[in-house]
Amino acid sequence: MTKISAPRPLVAGNWKMNGLASLLAEADKLKQRLADPAVGGKCEVMLCPPATLVGAMAKAAAGSALMVGGQDCHAKASGAHTGDIAAEMLRDAGASAVIVGHSERRADHGEIDAIVRAKAEAAYRAGLMAIVCVGETADERKAGKTLAVVTGQLAGSLPDAATDANTVVAYEPVWAIGTGLTPTVADVAEVHAAVRAALVKRYGDRGQGMRVLYGGSVKPSNARELMSVENVNGALVGGASLKAEDFLGIIGAYA
Ligand code: PEP
Repeated sequence: MTKISAPRPLVAGNWKMNGLASLLAEADKLKQRLADPAVGGKCEVMLCPPATLVGAMAKAAAGSALMVGGQDCHAKASGAHTGDIAAEMLRDAGASAVIVGHSERRADHGEIDAIVRAKAEAAYRAGLMAIVCVGETADERKAGKTLAVVTGQLAGSLPDAATDANTVVAYEPVWAIGTGLTPTVADVAEVHAAVRAALVKRYGDRGQGMRVLYGGSVKPSNARELMSVENVNGALVGGASLKAEDFLGIIGAYA
């Protein structure tokens, strides 16, 4: 196998169902600060606002280092699916990526691995990068099933056509999302090593280069420690991505 250099980290913010147009001011602050290479020069930075703001944010971010993503997409390109959004529509609005399989989608909308996989394939079809989320619940961790759950979700959710260019994996323990709790550094290292091994086994060099983000209560005070763990290639950030200053504090882990 050829030697692959460490992938360029990605720090992505997921605004979830938060944000009216006034919150675009935070994206604007972020964009302006990213113009300084000392701030965001060592990682890629993305915000995934609600679908209503994707177009406006992408327009405002055009030509800057700030990338814009969607939070979900339908597997089909068009059709009778009221309320859904196609990957092609996100792309048309200026997105370059889309989150699929977030645990809130898996829990609230019954999205099983096969659906997540179809959504990732839709992202590729539209020319978007898929950020594919996996992670165990508190009960699964207590039962010692973390690695089995995470590698099982990976196997079922990732398409065969995944590459280091079109796919990012986000490991997000469900119990750490929005709770202020985080796994120990040793636990993060163990899961990320298992994810990397599974990716390399299935995809070879492509799996070596795929970015694996950690997500779950990342904040400025813990970002540096979490981001320094082997095989952690960035962060997926919820709450702390809503304010530019907090998000910049996380991006600062790569300064
Ligand atoms: C998320 O929902 O992807 C997430 C990581 O949320 P938080 O950072 O708020 O825990």
